[in-house]
Amino acid sequence: MAPQQPTDAFNVAIIGAGIGGLGLAIGLSHLSVPFTLYESTPVFSTVGAGVGLGPNALRAMDLMEKRFKDMYMDIATGNLKPEKVHSMMEAMRMDEGLGAGEEWYGKGDWGSETFTRTGAHRKDLLDIMTSFIPKDAVRFNKRVKTVRQVAGKVELVFEDGEVVNHAAVVGSDGVKGFTRSVVLGERFPDDVRPKYEGKYVYRAILPMGDAKEIMGDLATDAKMYLSQGANLSTYPISEGTQMNVVAFKRDPTPWPHQDFTEEVTKEAMIRDFAGHNIDQRLVKLLDWAKPTRWGIFHHPTTPTYYNSLICLLGDVAHAGGPHQGAGAGQCLEDALILSRVLGALFHSTPSSTLSTPCPLRTAIVEAAFQAYDEVRRPRAQEQVRTTKETGELYNLIGEGGRVIEIQEAIERLNGRFGWLWDHDLKSDCIKAERRFKELATMGEGVGIESARL
Ligand SMILES: Cc1cc2nc3c(=O)[nH]c(=O)nc-3n(C[C@H](O)[C@H](O)[C@H](O)COP(=O)(O)OP(=O)(O)OC[C@H]3O[C@@H](n4cnc5c(N)ncnc54)[C@H](O)[C@@H]3O)c2cc1C
Repeated sequence: MAPQQPTDAFNVAIIGAGIGGLGLAIGLSHLSVPFTLYESTPVFSTVGAGVGLGPNALRAMDLMEKRFKDMYMDIATGNLKPEKVHSMMEAMRMDEGLGAGEEWYGKGDWGSETFTRTGAHRKDLLDIMTSFIPKDAVRFNKRVKTVRQVAGKVELVFEDGEVVNHAAVVGSDGVKGFTRSVVLGERFPDDVRPKYEGKYVYRAILPMGDAKEIMGDLATDAKMYLSQGANLSTYPISEGTQMNVVAFKRDPTPWPHQDFTEEVTKEAMIRDFAGHNIDQRLVKLLDWAKPTRWGIFHHPTTPTYYNSLICLLGDVAHAGGPHQGAGAGQCLEDALILSRVLGALFHSTPSSTLSTPCPLRTAIVEAAFQAYDEVRRPRAQEQVRTTKETGELYNLIGEGGRVIEIQEAIERLNGRFGWLWDHDLKSDCIKAERRFKELATMGEGVGIESARL
């Protein structure tokens, strides 16, 4: 069936079908809020890498669409040893010998009773997510070139020349996404471009059989190998048949490229870790890595997530380094809260108001975006701030650049994640919906109707 061209009727445009955009599409679908998802690529992305999700992410899935969490749990892989179920990771040294024989060795896990390790191949997660989204709500090969608010609606122009209008737009176009400049450009120009965190990574997935041959018993559970200047994480995915590897290199010199990735030679990749007295087993894991450097970019400050009818979600709003394994979870939390306020908007506003671009509709959409911003931004930005500090601990660096011992890093890693994992998302939903209704009925200036709110 050919996709419906949105008219003046209430229809939310979502730009970008990563975990953030797909999450929002699931939430809106579940609440029967009309939307159209535009993705620049010809098919849903199947980036070959793992993703770990904490309990807060699972809670967000559950609150959005119960089957989503159940289906994820069916494909999710935790640590393979029963005694490691609640361990997020175990610290080891990156240096030759991995720290074996040192006092802390074997006691380096961090996690909590409320945390259960889960991770998956991104492709498996995306397959589940896309299964919830009606096919006719998605348009591929649609790269949005410009977004402009005109007369109570938003005009999207695509690279292929097509022009469409929507009542509201959510940019979920990733860390480099151009919608960030649409929302922040005029008011906060210095906050538009993502900042280089001073680290880049190489990524690999290898068969668990090979991983076990190299790492032995260490392969079956999540590990973080620590050193100054570099660190490396490994964890099982794909029901334990594969190992995901991310190798981090600290390099504070400015990122020299426009692009966020750089192809190098295999020798250059190995040289990146050679100066760190790296255990040769870890070097061997890099045999499966593509020699591509992925620069880690983040958005340390985002003064607002919306500008009138245009709103940001996911990495384009709050990209952070991957040190807490939490970016995708934050996308899902965004999706939960934004879908709830848009659901409240859609189901409590008279259809005559919804279907007409007018100041009243604009004010109601703004109320929804403000409620989302107020609930989500403080928490998501805290994730961006703390993930950078966590990444420093992996390089044995404390506050003010102080070099710390591995025992101190382990102690500090334990107890760092409670606020992130144990958060009450149900309360966030109630708070956001309540705030939306309060804001929407407060708009005396534009005379928002309160009758159905
Ligand atoms: C090495 C690494 C490891 C990570 N590990 C974890 C982890 O273990 N756990 C975790 O929770 N998070 C992790 N993260 C973070 C997580 O991957 C991201 O936070 C998350 O994937 C961001 O999703 P997104 O939807 O915001 O953006 P993206 O996934 O970047 O999606 C953006 C989409 O928008 C599309 N798009 C862009 N521009 C346009 C346009 N103009 N028009 C139309 N479409 C457009 C793109 O094609 C893309 O499909 C990791 C990140 C990295 C780099």
